[in-house]
Order: sequence, then C-alpha cells, then structure tokens
Amino acid sequence: MDYGSFTALELGKMIKAGEVTSPELCEFFLSKNDEYNAFISKNKNALSEAEEIQKKIDGGELASPLAGVPIAVKDNICTDGIKTTCASKMLSDFVPPYDATVIKKLKNAGLLILGKTNMDEFAMGSTGETSYYGAALNPLDIKRAAGGSSSGSAAAVAGSLAPLALGSDTGGSVRMPASYCGVTGLKPTYGAVSRYGLIAYASSFDTIGTICKNAADTAALYNIISSRDIKDSTSLECKKLMLNSGRTHKGVKIGVMENVSDKAVKRFENLGAKVERFSFKLLEYAVPAYYIIACAQASSNLARYDGVRYGYRSEASATIGGLFKNSRTEGFGSEVKKRIMLGNFVLSAGYYDEYYVKALKVKNMINKEFVKLFEKYDYILAPVTDSAAPRLGESLDKPLKMYSSDVYNVLANLTGLPAVTVSAGNDKNGMPVGAQLIGKALSENGLLDIINAIEREEYGI
Ligand code: GLN
Repeated sequence: MDYGSFTALELGKMIKAGEVTSPELCEFFLSKNDEYNAFISKNKNALSEAEEIQKKIDGGELASPLAGVPIAVKDNICTDGIKTTCASKMLSDFVPPYDATVIKKLKNAGLLILGKTNMDEFAMGSTGETSYYGAALNPLDIKRAAGGSSSGSAAAVAGSLAPLALGSDTGGSVRMPASYCGVTGLKPTYGAVSRYGLIAYASSFDTIGTICKNAADTAALYNIISSRDIKDSTSLECKKLMLNSGRTHKGVKIGVMENVSDKAVKRFENLGAKVERFSFKLLEYAVPAYYIIACAQASSNLARYDGVRYGYRSEASATIGGLFKNSRTEGFGSEVKKRIMLGNFVLSAGYYDEYYVKALKVKNMINKEFVKLFEKYDYILAPVTDSAAPRLGESLDKPLKMYSSDVYNVLANLTGLPAVTVSAGNDKNGMPVGAQLIGKALSENGLLDIINAIEREEYGI
C-alpha cells in the first residue's frame, strides 16, 4: 500500500481502525529513498519508539487523531538524543540533551519523529541553498529550489517522505517553501507555539509553524503544538481549533493586496466572500525593516557560538581570542557571517538610532496600518512571492533579489499575525504559485476554516 498518498488524519484513522500500525508506517516512510535531500538525519530509534506508541494506542492511552503518525522536524528544533545541526558546520555534531516544548507535545500525543529536515543554515535564506549539507530539491522539479528556509520539511511532505512536518517561520520560511512545493504552510500567531528549544535566529519574529497536505491536517497539528508554555514568556493561551463546523463564509470581507492573481481571488469569491483590492502603502519599507531587525537579533543570538561551550571548535588556535575567531571563521557559512556583520553594524554606537531604532519605528507603523485594515476587512489576501520556485544556483549571487522576494512574507512576522498559504495556480512551467491569507492575532480557526472550505468545495475533501 502506498501510505505516502494519504493525509495525516487519514493515516491516524487507519491506525485507530487497525488497518495499519505505527511501526508499519515507520518502516514505510523510513525505507523511502531520500531523493530530494530532504533529511539531514533520521531517528535511529524510530522503530522501537513506534512499537512503544503502538502499545499505548492498543491500550487506549492515546486519544489524539494523529497518534502513531510519523512526522518530520526541521533541524533547528531541539530533539533529545537526535543531532540538531541547524544545517551548519557550527552545530554539525550537536546532540541536544533535551526536547523542545513542541517535541514534548508531539511525543505526548503519540506522534513519531522520523528525522530532522534540511534547511538554510541557521534558517537564513529563501531557497534552502545556504545549507551546509547542500540544497533540498523541489519534488515537483528537482532542478528547482524547494524554497527556504524550511526546505526539507516542504520537500518531505510534497515528496511523500513524511505525511506532515514542522518548520519555522521568522520571515516566511514556512510559507515560502510550502508554496514553492504546493503544500499548505501555516505561520501561527507569534506566541501561539512555544519557542522553547527552537534555536534562535531573530527572537521577536521566530515562530514554529506547520507544513501539511491540507488545512484539516494543519489544524490537527496546530492543536497539538500550540498553547502557553511556562518556558517561553512570550507564549499565549490558545483555543483548540474546530474546522468545518457549519460556519458560512458568505459576506466575509477580504482585502486583497496588489499582485494577487485573479485565480486566487476567485476561489474566495466562490465561497461568497466580498473582496476588495487595495494597495499597501508601506510595502517598500517592509524588507529593509525586517532585515535590519532580523540581522541585529541574529548577531546577538549567534554570539554564543564561540567554540568554548558547545558547537564547532577550531584546532588552529594558541590563544583564547584566536579560538573564538577561528571557530567562528571556520564554523559559519558566508550568508550567516554576512548577517552577523550587518547586525553588528546596525547595533553599533552611532548607527543604532539611525538603523535599528528606525526599523522598529517602521515595524510599529506597519502594525498600525494592519490594525486599520482589520477595521475594514476580516482577512487580508497577499501573494507569498511574486514568482514560483527559482532554479537551483540562480539566487545566491543575487542577494538583493533574494531578500526582496520576502516582501509579502515578512509582513506577518513584523506584525506577529497568523498566515496560511493557499494555491494561486501555476506559472507557465507548471510550478505552483502561492497566496497567503493573513488574519488577526489568534484567528487560526477562521483562517483554516476558509482554506478548508475551499479545499472541500474544489476537491471534495
Ligand atoms: N528569507 C528569510 C531570511 O532569510 C526567511 C527566514 C526565516 O523565516 N527563517 O531571513
């Protein structure tokens, strides 16, 4: 049986009905050839863990609809006993001694961790190509990027190497690869999912998100990983989502940002939504503000990698200063170094007010603009990017173009708002182009309900 063609909820039901077991699913997914370079490491204990989970399911101890279902996890989320590299040389041997809160929650619900997925180094990138382990390939066209930075998670789900996956989204890293690979990516409200155990990039934007085959799986996974965690002071209490509860979407007001295709808009109109196009005046300031704040926070977060406590240590040093310098010089890739330098620059005396403080002011202005938009509209529909997945090798030497491709994505990070991807059709090469629906804080239920309604209407699922 090709278990790769089922959704995660379908697999969960099949396990409950005794049609398949968790160890059988584990063997099925782990025996698949990773032709997309989606994984950095596999969980060596997966089979014995699946057997333990199955015993609990048989004993009636696990009620979650996803109990027994295998999941892939981005390699910047700490997993006790499984290498967590952030796709870097710096952490290539790092085995965390603890589980991130999301991993604990997955384990409590009986999900099985298959392995850790490829990504841009320290989650910095938009194509997956800054990975120390080489880029993940797009399953829809292996000459193209899977998107970044959660490239392996999207490739694993789109390529049926895992039924669902966790990623992280600091500036679009769940939504961009999800839409390049034609799967569903959710960036939850900032704080809805605990960041404890997520290796920090830019702490005020970092959000753990989901990559799934559809909205129903997304809601089921969100219900498991979300909610307040005492170990993350920015985390929030969240309600459980309930999709498909008969809610009608007639008359829902959707503001549509520039460059969303008519095809995407039509899908919402078909549900009875009222759409209105508008142009977002502050759009040109989003990317500069995001990159200044993200690099500033990254330069501070990455200061801990000095070769002393953990991570890569250079052998070539006679002095402590040399040890710091050589470990960082040899341990970080060039994109990461570029951002550390930029971050240190914008935080330095004399430039702090001119860049960092100014970027924070722009962030506030963008927030206020969204508050106004939500007085008029229930949801905002925006593009994910203005093009489909680029060919591998075409992006890294054009950094400004690559950074600009984040323009729509970073809006949800600058504001902390939730956003979910939805297909907006295909380009002339047949590659998917995505749009995203952005909602008010903690409006995940409404967002996913609408996407679920579109999926049911169009695919009868
Ligand atoms: N392209 C963004 C960046 O490089 C994406 C980051 C992310 O969401 N992890 O900063």
